[in-house]
Amino acid sequence: MKMMTTAQLSDYLKAKGVRPSAQRIAILRYLMENPVHPTVEKIHEALVHDMPSLSLTTVYNTLNCLVAADCGVTMLTPDSRNAHFDFIEHPHAHTYCRSCGAIMDMELGGALSGDDCRGGFHVERVDVCYRGLCSDCYAKLN
Ligand SMILES: [Zn+2]
Ligand SMILES: [Zn+2]
Repeated sequence: MKMMTTAQLSDYLKAKGVRPSAQRIAILRYLMENPVHPTVEKIHEALVHDMPSLSLTTVYNTLNCLVAADCGVTMLTPDSRNAHFDFIEHPHAHTYCRSCGAIMDMELGGALSGDDCRGGFHVERVDVCYRGLCSDCYAKLN
């Protein structure tokens, strides 16, 4: 993801019909620049230093707003204890390690990608998650 300036992020949000508050810009920027599928807590921890008034509730509400307004942010829920968030620039699948909880990106391969249109169905979002063990956990457990 190329870096976007605050003005570009602000225009991006406005184009989606979202008022570009400082929190929304900061959280969107964090997700764009850190494709690590963070939880609400992780995002809060990363941003609270620069925004001391930022609460967990605000992060949670902001994420819900970005998801609902179709700003490219998706909630991932392979882990039933925590929701994880991702800025999806290009459609991709995920892998979820049931041992360490790591979520990684994986190419979609032969599955429908976001630009495909087959049988008249127009794909807008792809939600594919492979569950299992990452290479480190697999090595430890086998
Ligand atoms: Zn693992
Ligand atoms: Zn991802």
